[in-house]
Parts: sequence; structure tokens; C-alpha cells
Amino acid sequence: MKGMKSRDTTSSMISEQIVSRGIKDPSVLKTMAQVPRQRFVPVELREHSFSDHPLGIGYNQTISQPYIVALMTFALDLKDSMSVLEVGTGSGYQTAILAELSAKVYTIERIPELSEKACSILQSLCYDNIFYKVSDGSVGWTEHAPFDRIIVTAGASQIPGPLIDQLNMNGILIIPVGSKANQILYRLTKTESNSSRKYGLKIDKLTNCVFVPLVGQYA
Ligand code: SAH
Repeated sequence: MKGMKSRDTTSSMISEQIVSRGIKDPSVLKTMAQVPRQRFVPVELREHSFSDHPLGIGYNQTISQPYIVALMTFALDLKDSMSVLEVGTGSGYQTAILAELSAKVYTIERIPELSEKACSILQSLCYDNIFYKVSDGSVGWTEHAPFDRIIVTAGASQIPGPLIDQLNMNGILIIPVGSKANQILYRLTKTESNSSRKYGLKIDKLTNCVFVPLVGQYA
């Protein structure tokens, strides 16, 4: 039975790629078990949906590796009251995970075809707390700021200033920063300032990673 196979594969993805690498947060694991990853993978690659690597989704873009999705989600420390900005909708898979664990997700994608495809899949899965925009997400989404959490799923060469500005106090930004070939995944926490600056930043390095490039004004 098809559905059966997919459930089995999701559970081995979770145990072999995510729990084994140290992510044991029950809400992250439960959400990853619920969201049907195969729906976000192009039909011709569907048999690889649960493989331990990113997959092409067209337009030179990728759906992130399952472990990286789990790690970013865990690092965000989401609460169900939160408002989240996602830069880089891509396939919409990470968007679905965010929507399960927060109140509202504002997701920006620069490639119209990817945004439309993700939107139609997410609507078919009945998510009604996701708001979509086609534009350069490195400038954020001022109309809906500030956000409790911001996640950038494309590699930046620097931290886009507008994203820090649009983050609530004690908010968290997860972003890969580095060169095209190799980035470091950072968690930045916006803190009260103890100097003349408007805020402080606590910086944690999570892992090395390789994302497709963030393309935009503040990228
Ligand atoms: N989380 C997505 C990752 C997709 S890859 C997934 O797992 O499917 C990163 C995406 O970021 C690509 O779709 C790319 O087009 C998009 N992107 C790159 N620069 C961007 C920008 N400045 N604003 C919005 N989206 C951007």
C-alpha cells in the first residue's frame, strides 16, 4: 500500500537521520512525522523524498535535507502563539512545518513559479495560517513586522540588516551565512542592549551547511 510505505519511510527518516543526530524534541519529531514530505518533491524524484540530502525542485533551487529542516526548526524554539517570517519558500516543506508549530507564517519567495506551486500544495493540505509574497525577502516584510522568529533558507554573504530590525526583542533569527560553497548556520537572538546601541545580539553557530544563494538587496 502506497500510504503505508510512505509512513514507514517517514519514520525511518526520523529515526536514522534526525534522532540519531541528536534532535529529540517531541514537537519537532511529531511535526516531521505528520507533514507529507513527498508532496513537496517533484514527481520524478518522489522515490527519493526521504533521502538524507537536498533534492532539486527546478529553477536551480532545492528542498532542504530533512536533518537541516529539523535542526532549523528546533533552533527556532517555536510557540503556537508566534508570528514567523520565512525567507525562501522554495518547495513549501519548511513552511508547512512552521505553520504546524506557530500562529502565522509569512513566507517570501523570489521565483513566482515556486511560490505558486508551494501555495497550491499548502492550500491542498488545508493550511490557512500561511501568507505568501513574491519578492526579495532580504528586505523583510515591513507590513507584518515585527516577527517573533525569522528563518532564512538560502545562504547569505552577510546578515540582512532589515531582518534584525524586523525581529521582536528576544526574537530569534536562523540564517546560513558564508560563501557560495560553504556557509555556517547561525542562530541570532536579539537582546536588550547594555550600551548605546538599540539592541544586543547573542550569536550561536549551529553547523556547517550548503544552501543555494540568497539573491537580493541585503543578501
Ligand atoms: N526551505 C526551502 C528552501 C528552498 S531553497 C525548501 O526546503 O524547499 C531557497 C529558496 O530561497 C529558493 O527557492 C530561492 O528562490 C529563494 N530565495 C533566494 N533568495 C531569495 C530572496 N532574496 N527572497 C526570497 N526568496 C529567495
